[in-house]
Amino acid sequence: MENFDYVIVGAGSAGSVLANRLSEDEKTTVCVLEAGPSDWHPFIHIPAGFMYTLVNPRVNWLYASEPSEWTGGRRIAAPRGKTLGGSSSINGHIYNRGQRLDFDGWAQRGNRGWGYADVLPYFRRTERRLVAEADPTFRGSDGNLPITDLEWRDPLCEAFIEGAVQMGIPRNRDYNGAQQAGVSYVQRIIKSGRRVSAARGYLHPAMGRRNLTVRTHAHATNLIFDGKRAIGVRYLKGGRNGTPVEVRATREVILAGGAVNTPQLLQVSGIGPAPLLQSLGIAVKHALAGVGENLRDHYAPRFVARVKGAGTINEKSKGLRLVGEVLKYAVARKGILALNPTLIYVFWKSDPNVDNYDLQFTFTPASYKEGVQSTLDDFPGMTIASWQQRPDSIGYVRARSSDPFAAPIIQPNYLTAESDRHVLLAGMKIARKLISSPPLQKYYEREEFPGVQAQSDEDLMAAAKQRGTTTFHLMGTCRMAPDNDPTAVVDDQLRVRGLESLRVVDASIMPTMPSANLNASVLMLAEKAADMIRGKPALESATLRD
Ligand SMILES: Cc1cc2nc3c(=O)[nH]c(=O)nc-3n(C[C@H](O)[C@H](O)[C@H](O)COP(=O)(O)OP(=O)(O)OC[C@H]3O[C@@H](n4cnc5c(N)ncnc54)[C@H](O)[C@@H]3O)c2cc1C
Repeated sequence: MENFDYVIVGAGSAGSVLANRLSEDEKTTVCVLEAGPSDWHPFIHIPAGFMYTLVNPRVNWLYASEPSEWTGGRRIAAPRGKTLGGSSSINGHIYNRGQRLDFDGWAQRGNRGWGYADVLPYFRRTERRLVAEADPTFRGSDGNLPITDLEWRDPLCEAFIEGAVQMGIPRNRDYNGAQQAGVSYVQRIIKSGRRVSAARGYLHPAMGRRNLTVRTHAHATNLIFDGKRAIGVRYLKGGRNGTPVEVRATREVILAGGAVNTPQLLQVSGIGPAPLLQSLGIAVKHALAGVGENLRDHYAPRFVARVKGAGTINEKSKGLRLVGEVLKYAVARKGILALNPTLIYVFWKSDPNVDNYDLQFTFTPASYKEGVQSTLDDFPGMTIASWQQRPDSIGYVRARSSDPFAAPIIQPNYLTAESDRHVLLAGMKIARKLISSPPLQKYYEREEFPGVQAQSDEDLMAAAKQRGTTTFHLMGTCRMAPDNDPTAVVDDQLRVRGLESLRVVDASIMPTMPSANLNASVLMLAEKAADMIRGKPALESATLRD
């Protein structure tokens, strides 16, 4: 039996930040358990390797969501990173924080210290923004993760932006600054043509510390309790048939397994909705109705158009041109291998009369088979995705059995809320205009999906059913909320309610969906949690103009 001050389950985005920050104090011992392997694989680090890691079981849990009405009865792949860096080692590299109202909304719900002014200093602490004109009110300059602008320019992307501008959508120099709205090339966590995952930015620089122990191939199977106090973690070294090991935490156990695995680990350890646990034959250690509930995700249909007269990624990734691209990457770390899956962002409103920007669009000069980003299609194309930024549809994650290795049930209930369908429909109509705007006309041959015959609202929603997919932003399954909220799992210090020495620090604590991809917010919340756990005062709140 080994003892550490802290045992962290999961070396993903949040776990990597925590491992670094908690082990800064050399008198504190920290153990991190990671179910996956080390992050040595080259395709993790080459940005375009995204297409490979998206479907690779070595570094990906390869979950799938349950069928539902608005996915047309389809199961949708739900990849999750399973290696050092977790999902930040397989994600799309985008850096996107969301809007001020997202975090003010968290505070409004009774979560003290989580308003935008409170979290902004932690966003700044995570990043090293590598552009001269960055506004220091919003952007950090000496954090662990370099945030760069996409340098790629091509005629299709330029025409797409010009088309958006002609539709009245302004260019935005920094969607992570004062205003999110507008059109721009994406900001990425990529430096010198290589991914900078949370592991590369936070974990690896700390791994030389004698007080930090990182165990890979260590799948946590149960939490160990003394009464209501979490005192350790049981794991299998080497996977399902591996050796059972126990590690003890003299101060705290911290769960950072992500929005799918953290609620599952709690449930198989006897913490969760009592009826669910009883139905699975799991002894109820502590009934907590919200564990696994409040799951949300972004659901995105994609329009695809066939392109003429401009080189797309489809042609560049074939034959001799691909050889050239490989050489370009090998020599200069440039070209299509240095690209992340999405190149341009648009943030806009579903209706001029709504108060807040509720739509996000992504544009890529490429077409993918069935719209899924792991396989390029055979024809030159361009793709635009659209989604409702703050979905109201709510689902759940539930253990399928008491077996910690059985993939849990993931039911996001995409588009069950009428409000989500309403906003999405408006978004699809704007998306179609954006991808066929006058500046793009010289490259636009025809719409391949859903096709011009799809005109009515019913046709468009049928297309959303047929091909909509996750944008990989599962969150909310161990919700931070005040005690009087029946879905509350953790308090605003991220302590699990009713238990001692147990926290959750990952995407599952988010009360509602930020208007963004999630990685930036997870890094922020892990930085903030590290100060809480260390008993340090929170960073001073930012002073912001209204
Ligand atoms: C394919 C994909 C693309 C994405 N693209 C973007 C993007 O471009 N931009 C963006 O901002 N966000 C993106 N996201 C979302 C973002 O990366 C995640 O929301 C974020 O990384 C989640 O961080 P986390 O710490 O909650 O969990 P994770 O980073 O998933 O970490 C959880 C870790 O815990 C480990 N673990 C789980 N269970 C156990 C166990 N029982 N025992 C031991 N270890 C365990 C896992 O293996 C994993 O390493 C993407 C996500 C995916 C999957």
